[in-house]
Amino acid sequence: MEMAQGMGRRAAAPREAQVTPPRTLTVLGATGSIGLSTLDLVGRDPDAFEIIALTAHRNVARLAELAIAHRARLAVIGEAHLYGELKDRLAGTGIEAAAGTEALVEAASRKADCVMAAIVGAAGLAPTLAAVRQGTRIALANKECLVSAGMVFMQAVAEAGAALIPVDSEHSAAFQAIDGAPGALIERITLTASGGPFRSWSHAQLAAARPEQALAHPTWSMGAKISIDSATLMNKGLELIEAYHLFPVEAHQLDVVVHPQSIVHCLVSYRDGSVLAQMAAPDMRTPIAYALAWPSRMDAPTERLDLVRLASLTFEAPDEERFPALALARQAMAAGGGACTVLNGANEIAVEAFLAGAIGFLDIAALVADTLDAAAAKGLFAPAQTLDEVLALDGQARALARSLLEGYG
Ligand code: NDP
Repeated sequence: MEMAQGMGRRAAAPREAQVTPPRTLTVLGATGSIGLSTLDLVGRDPDAFEIIALTAHRNVARLAELAIAHRARLAVIGEAHLYGELKDRLAGTGIEAAAGTEALVEAASRKADCVMAAIVGAAGLAPTLAAVRQGTRIALANKECLVSAGMVFMQAVAEAGAALIPVDSEHSAAFQAIDGAPGALIERITLTASGGPFRSWSHAQLAAARPEQALAHPTWSMGAKISIDSATLMNKGLELIEAYHLFPVEAHQLDVVVHPQSIVHCLVSYRDGSVLAQMAAPDMRTPIAYALAWPSRMDAPTERLDLVRLASLTFEAPDEERFPALALARQAMAAGGGACTVLNGANEIAVEAFLAGAIGFLDIAALVADTLDAAAAKGLFAPAQTLDEVLALDGQARALARSLLEGYG
């Protein structure tokens, strides 16, 4: 398949590429925020898509409901012990049921015109890579894949000739504003950040922030993990690393600006002084629709922008003292691929611990920083060359973070 892998680090997709919009679709992480938004779009035009497989981790009731509603051929639940329940719920429907991590990978390998990669965290890595290897279109929501395994992932994309279309709103915006332009023409890519729910909170307030406050994002409705990442600004750090792998620029050409209204999603500055920005209401169905329909467009029932009503769009520099996660991500990017794997694994452990009430909000970035230091001292930053090496390093980072966790809370 031709196309958007060319938007990757070094080449550009031909502007005139003619690609048939996908008909068959698999959704990995169907029960999550991105998965449900994807199926909402599919449900509005059911004749345009045929669902090959839907997957979830443990929400078996919702998975079965979605599989029946969208007439999926296969439903896979990640937790193996839930197989019996899934099979019972699908009895008499003709929908195949499967369970376990290998079944997730098998589902991702089944031929589909497009695979929506929307599992959260490094757990999505093996299934997403399996989808990449079938050389199809990957609508990539799972940013942790690129953070944890950027080189391995992008190499697999190139080898398979897969088309990688970003779903993250900032990267979808950059993809649109770059539109195949070569890297030599681009001066800078500026990702916008809402600033999260704690944008104006003092250090003392942040120290006492509770999970339910961190989950209450002011502009976006998202899953728990990315909501916490948005509150710490680690989400923007992960996105810098994601952008580095997706677009033909160097790390120093990537920037972040806080834009509380979440209307402008990314700005691409060209060498002649032009800046192309993409705007849309903060609703993930716009970038999802773009990834599904690219290079065409499809209807999305999102709020239309009324600039007069919005009246003003504001921008400010991120406060990296109150929100050190951004600097940690830059530090990991500078240290190399292995450091990004460690950053991601440690962050997943820290977010889990915060949501479980085991550590405070400011401890999230502190635990990631401590884990990066400990990993550097152990010489763990060599870039992993294979999926197995990435998974092994991810495991080591998680074990380190868990052992350091004992000194917190
Ligand atoms: P959610 O937490 O809402 O959903 C995650 C999905 O992954 C669910 O279907 C969940 O199943 C499944 N899942 C969780 N853990 C596992 C596992 N170990 N194995 C297999 N499946 C698993 O996440 P979001 O939809 O918010 O985010 C998905 C990805 O998209 C993330 O990488 C996020 O960073 C990215 N993203 C999200 C945006 C958003 O607006 N939500 C915006 C941009 C990017 P179950 O329901 O059964 O637990």
